[in-house]
Amino acid sequence: MSVDRTRLKELLARETAEAAARNPKSRAAYEAADHLFGRVPMTWMNKNAGAFPRYLAGARGARVTDIDGHTYVDFCLGDTGAMAGHSPEPVAEAIERRYREQGGATAMLPTEDAEWVGAELARRFGLARWSYALTATDANRWAIRLARAVTGRQKILFNSYCYHGSVDESLIVTGPGGRGGVSRPGNVGAPCDVTLTSRVAEFNDLEGLERELAHGDVAAVLMEPALTNIGIVLPEPGYLEGVREITRRHGVLLINDETHTFSAGPGGATAAWSLEPDVLTIGKAIAGGVPAGAYGLSADLADRLLSRGDLDLVDMGGVGGTLAGNALSVAAMRATLEHVLTDDAFTAMSVLAARFERGVADAVAAHGLPWSVSRLGARTEYRFAAPAPRNGTESAAVSDPELEDFLHLWLANRGILMTPFHNMALMCPATTEADVDTHSALFAAALAELAG
Ligand code: PMP
Repeated sequence: MSVDRTRLKELLARETAEAAARNPKSRAAYEAADHLFGRVPMTWMNKNAGAFPRYLAGARGARVTDIDGHTYVDFCLGDTGAMAGHSPEPVAEAIERRYREQGGATAMLPTEDAEWVGAELARRFGLARWSYALTATDANRWAIRLARAVTGRQKILFNSYCYHGSVDESLIVTGPGGRGGVSRPGNVGAPCDVTLTSRVAEFNDLEGLERELAHGDVAAVLMEPALTNIGIVLPEPGYLEGVREITRRHGVLLINDETHTFSAGPGGATAAWSLEPDVLTIGKAIAGGVPAGAYGLSADLADRLLSRGDLDLVDMGGVGGTLAGNALSVAAMRATLEHVLTDDAFTAMSVLAARFERGVADAVAAHGLPWSVSRLGARTEYRFAAPAPRNGTESAAVSDPELEDFLHLWLANRGILMTPFHNMALMCPATTEADVDTHSALFAAALAELAG
């Protein structure tokens, strides 16, 4: 079956009207927000299905409540920032203890929690030395600078349609015919032509990677082990081994961004698939919703950097990093890793995600839709193409914002939150089988409605 576009437009209009009727307080709050740029705290919050965002009243575990009094099963989970669930008790206690009882959120002094977290990240991901940031974007920015400093090379290679935060160098996509690089469409205020700082290859394309690295000017490849920001694009057999072999051969550092692929297991895809990056970056989920990021370096790389007297690693020790590694976010990281996103929690979350995936796949098959669904541990995503796209450019080509908005809005109006920008669903330790089954039933009903 293919989607009837006229029917889709009608249904989307109906659901948009339904959202306005169902959420009058959210709508009024949005319309009154005259002092916010774009009426929202951050302009990306306008990427919500419907004419306005629902306003958050509170959230606990896998549940979100809006100011109109509706409760949702949350499969968005802050697009991974709340993968530990909302306000899990051990993190709430750690925050309270650090901020209220002990006192001190930021004092330019280390706490003992920092070494505990470093040791735990080393155990999970295999990288020996760790440093903290406040966001994954910043961890990436700093990792890039270190890579340039230590290799003496200028460029960073990215996969087309990757996302690593608002890192200037990463906003590059392949040009016509899959060759060369051009600025990603819509890039706001690029500091310079992106091809001066970056190279690009398609995910799952070792030939393209080899061709780009052969120029000899690339300091590092910064990549996700599976693309997760343009649907989930999984690596084909041999691809990641090939990336490591080619990068080593060309003297190029490999940086794995595990911010989203952390869903693959307690040590992300790096541990799950026995990868050997030189640097690993992560953010979002590791502090239970409190801003925190981190990057890990191999022992050898850390030693090489620290032995370089010409690098000011003290005064320039981060990018906007005064609050990086602050006592509050480090305490939250420790509580999250020690008590919430534990090894056992990942096992349960993956089982639930597999159930979610089956629910979607069954409904898609029942309606004969040419869609695919992929999973990476606790994270699933469906895409409006089958077979699943093999790289970012292919996946970008099959995006369908109208269809996505309809599905998201239809589900939100019935108590399920999906991730804006994605058809992504993430499980947290508090997600239940019943939550997943609720989604499966509603998703099937949405497709039935679409089929007419
Ligand atoms: N890396 C990846 C893989 C991401 O998906 C994101 C955000 N979606 C980031 C980095 C940036 O994270 P933040 O916005 O928290 O800095």
